[in-house]
Amino acid sequence: MSIQQSDLTQLLISRSSYRQFNTFTQNWERCTACPLSLRRTQVVHYRGRLPATVLFIGEAPGASEDTSGLPFTGGAGVLLQHWLSEAAIRLSRTLRPRFTWGVMNVVGCLSQHLDDEGDYVNSPPTPEEITGCTPRTVSLYQLARPHLLVLLGKTAEKILPALPERPPALLLPHPAFVLRRGGARSPESHEVVLRLVEFLTHYLRKPYYHAHDPS
Ligand code: SF4
Repeated sequence: MSIQQSDLTQLLISRSSYRQFNTFTQNWERCTACPLSLRRTQVVHYRGRLPATVLFIGEAPGASEDTSGLPFTGGAGVLLQHWLSEAAIRLSRTLRPRFTWGVMNVVGCLSQHLDDEGDYVNSPPTPEEITGCTPRTVSLYQLARPHLLVLLGKTAEKILPALPERPPALLLPHPAFVLRRGGARSPESHEVVLRLVEFLTHYLRKPYYHAHDPS
């Protein structure tokens, strides 16, 4: 593993996880366990390294993710990649390059609901939809086997009680929220990078990380 693998533009699966991930995607590709199945093109699961040292959990796929089949490929994904790149540069000065990232959402399908005018608009998944998708989210989390969690937005927090053997977690604003407040140059974005670096520095430096490193 190396810090250069902060790049989220691909899905890179270790040989040992490949078969399990294939079975997982086949099991969920026709899921109709909640109403979100009605408007999706495909179920969207994961991006980055699998397994991953640090797992980012967001809310739901948007339109570009529904098309690409990968989470965080739209504007929010670009901002998340910016945060990871900034954090990786700062961390490379203080930490050994020994960690990887992955990203997923608490639901696997495009989350849109009717507004007051009868149009479908992007909106957070309902508690029932999150509950319906929890078996998928927990299975994916178990494949990722993270040492640390970063929750992107308050909707992501709702999955926490369902996660077994939960590692330390950091709550950050969702990148879509920060985009609406000015994006990468905003004070909020700067603050996110600082908090991310502080969290990772605390938990990934010796001796904590070495005590929890299975390799
Ligand atoms: S959001 Fe999850 S539970 Fe709902 S249809 Fe999609 S995969 Fe199934």
